[in-house]
Amino acid sequence: MNDDLNQKVKKRRTFAIISHPDAGKTTITEQLLLFSGAIREAGTVKAKGKKSNKFAKSDWMEIEKQRGISVTSSVMQVDYDGFQVNILDTPGHEDFSEDTYRTLMAVDAAVMVIDSGKGIEPQTKKLFEVCSMRGIPIFTFMNKLDRDGREPLELVAELEEVLGIDAFPMNWPMGMGKNLLGLYDLYNQRVELKNDDSEVYLPLDDNGEVEGDYDFKQSSIYTQALEDAQLLHEAGNPFDRDLINRGKLTPVFFGSALTGFGVQTFFDAFVDLAPSPSETETEDEQVIQPDDAQFTGFIFKIQANMNPAHRDRIAFIRICSGEFEKGMMVTLNRTQKDIRLAHTTQFMADAREEVETAVAGDIIGLYDTGNFQIGDTIYSGKKSVQFKPLPQFTPELFMRVSPKNVMKQKSFHKGIEQLVQEGAIQLYKTYHTEEYIIGAVGQLQFEVFQYRLLHEYNAEVIMTPLGHKIARWIDPDDLNPNMSSNRNLLAKDRFGNPVFLFENTFAENWFKDKYPDIELKSLL
Ligand code: GDP
Repeated sequence: MNDDLNQKVKKRRTFAIISHPDAGKTTITEQLLLFSGAIREAGTVKAKGKKSNKFAKSDWMEIEKQRGISVTSSVMQVDYDGFQVNILDTPGHEDFSEDTYRTLMAVDAAVMVIDSGKGIEPQTKKLFEVCSMRGIPIFTFMNKLDRDGREPLELVAELEEVLGIDAFPMNWPMGMGKNLLGLYDLYNQRVELKNDDSEVYLPLDDNGEVEGDYDFKQSSIYTQALEDAQLLHEAGNPFDRDLINRGKLTPVFFGSALTGFGVQTFFDAFVDLAPSPSETETEDEQVIQPDDAQFTGFIFKIQANMNPAHRDRIAFIRICSGEFEKGMMVTLNRTQKDIRLAHTTQFMADAREEVETAVAGDIIGLYDTGNFQIGDTIYSGKKSVQFKPLPQFTPELFMRVSPKNVMKQKSFHKGIEQLVQEGAIQLYKTYHTEEYIIGAVGQLQFEVFQYRLLHEYNAEVIMTPLGHKIARWIDPDDLNPNMSSNRNLLAKDRFGNPVFLFENTFAENWFKDKYPDIELKSLL
């Protein structure tokens, strides 16, 4: 153990903000940047203009252009109250893909932003499930308190009913919308009054009442909040830090990202309660501590052409232990090749910066000339390290692909191979005829694939949609040629394992009835 390194690691908070589109993820990120002094005025992050010029689905150029601007929000590092905070973006809607899921493998905690007028929406649920699978702590922010939303009790109950996670309200709204009086802060034992200029904090006495004479204490909004707080105290879940750490209990905060009300209270508690980077397990079940002197890390995301003018490719690495120093030599475990990390980048609010040093928990971007693949482990020194593979996600959408120009077969194959390695898309082949089928979690992956094949490999492709399929793997020994029909297409994955692509649940159940002894497996 190294004391100095340990101190630095303890000050790291690496998290993702998850939400359904429009719940307020960008707005709250911006508030965090404002508080940390990384930006001076609101609107910087919003420069993406994602609402005003919604791109046509097929127009990847436009998406790329946007990406050029929005890279700042894909990974950001800011100082907040003495903490080094790494924020990872998890795009919601059109860009929803495996990339989003994998990003969640690189964080230690998640902030879940919910629109209090809408409650839990589909994308919130999907992202929550991935976080929950990893058992990481999840902090809930009920947003848009400046508007009339749903009843707070109902919102909290929904967390438990729909997501199946226990909730602990850290604070409780006193009114909402135009009648918003403030927050009854159970955690800090104070009332935070809404005040147009600055926050006003009033301490609570032993009975949970605000000390002193104030007019608002006569209002029914205040007495209602007192009653609710009493109810939560008696019937709610107790505060339990261990359960929070294991992702079994979510602390819930109310506030308004737009006006900033309650946001600082939220982030203060977040940096206090969220865990610092912890140990990482290797493939052979060894445990690597974040303050181990050996530098280790894994690549969870590769983004090519982030800057269209330079055609660069950046491999994002999560540092798991040790300290990164500019120019250091590392070994890429998969190939055993030694690589000098001379050219790296870190993303501050509105600029990229060369990284001088970084420690466990930090995310840095490595300029890549084609060395790295998703899931790669790199390390310094002699002791070889391989972290567990990143999970593969069961694709839901499929396309048949073939080259438009048979003369360009070679670049077609090369392009597909590289994009598959990058984790941009999953590749399958029909079992006997070996026609290419690609699988994705989100539609946008296909568009990126097609665009990149054309522009980076000069290969035009014909894509025939196969639509939604349920992909299920079977043991190769169980396979018999009669099993395949037009409702369950037999394919093989890129390792040659048999997989059925069922048309729908009906087809899957029909198969299960017919072959009760065959086990059907999915990825994650
Ligand atoms: P994202 O899609 O989750 O990143 O959501 P944005 O941060 O872009 O917010 C979506 C819309 O909701 C924007 O028009 C925001 O101005 C608005 N918004 C975000 N937070 C609040 C809030 O606290 N109150 C209100 N009234 N509107 C908000």
